[in-house]
Amino acid sequence: MNYDVLIDTALEAREKAYVPYSNFKVGAAVLTEDGTVYGGCNIENASFGATNCAERTAIFKAVSDGHKSIKAIAVVGDPTTHTYPCGICRQVISEFADSSIPVILIKNKQEYIVKTLQDILPGAFTKKDLDK
Ligand SMILES: [Zn+2]
Repeated sequence: MNYDVLIDTALEAREKAYVPYSNFKVGAAVLTEDGTVYGGCNIENASFGATNCAERTAIFKAVSDGHKSIKAIAVVGDPTTHTYPCGICRQVISEFADSSIPVILIKNKQEYIVKTLQDILPGAFTKKDLDK
């Protein structure tokens, strides 16, 4: 899998972040089952609990357009390190993705690492657990 489009989309999305409180910009991009890519940024709120992460913004955009299967996700935060999805986002990713999907953790366009969802969310609680 070539990650260029995901990386570019995540980097572009980061520039749209609304972060007047933390000034910590995050961008994300998700690849859906038909190849459509959605970007998302974090959106803060004066009521901090109403803040939404970049990953969930991208996923919710995809799902609201009818896509319920994510094949890859890319995340970029602080350009000096690899920013991982928070716990809530890991859970939301697992709702719409297999545990084997790549999670691309971008430092910058040239530097990124690839994990799987299983790597960052072992023992996930999923809809399969509700079928028992
Ligand atoms: Zn998050």
